[in-house]
Amino acid sequence: MRAVLSTGSNMEDSRAHLASVARAFADELVAASQVYRTAPWGGVEQDDFLNQTLIVDVDCTPHELLARCQAAENAAHRVRDVRWGPRTLDVDIVALFDDTGQEIFVDTPDLIVPHPRADQRAFVLVPWLELDEQATMGGQSVQSLLRALPSTPENHVSPA
Ligand code: AMP
Repeated sequence: MRAVLSTGSNMEDSRAHLASVARAFADELVAASQVYRTAPWGGVEQDDFLNQTLIVDVDCTPHELLARCQAAENAAHRVRDVRWGPRTLDVDIVALFDDTGQEIFVDTPDLIVPHPRADQRAFVLVPWLELDEQATMGGQSVQSLLRALPSTPENHVSPA
């Protein structure tokens, strides 16, 4: 199964937190985007985020992958007191594809794929397009999803 993962951090050594995820998936890593800088969402006063997208080929179920993403968050001693607030490390499953390239859809209480808010987030779409210009999600091209986003400060994503 191929997975697109989005990682983000705006606390402590954010680059090191992002690197810890790439390291956790080192043997399965297909591609890693540059690190991008993004203004925070949600109106809470906090530092900019660093974001990176990883593509990994894993031999496990979607829920086992979620558990691995959460283990990476826990290993970074994730702090998160405020909704939309600062965090040491966030690891989301953006999209999943089977070995023939067909998109995998998951809709369970603890895991929804494609990630329900990924199509609204330039910090997910821009790094993903860097790795795969032809990427699709939910049957739509990631390029067209990105073009549909309004030109707001939090949609301004630039290489860090
Ligand atoms: P967040 O605060 O955005 O990191 O959300 C964490 C919660 O979202 C976890 O409890 C997960 O069970 C749930 N979740 C649902 N869908 C996903 C997904 N595609 N990737 C990561 N977490 C997910």
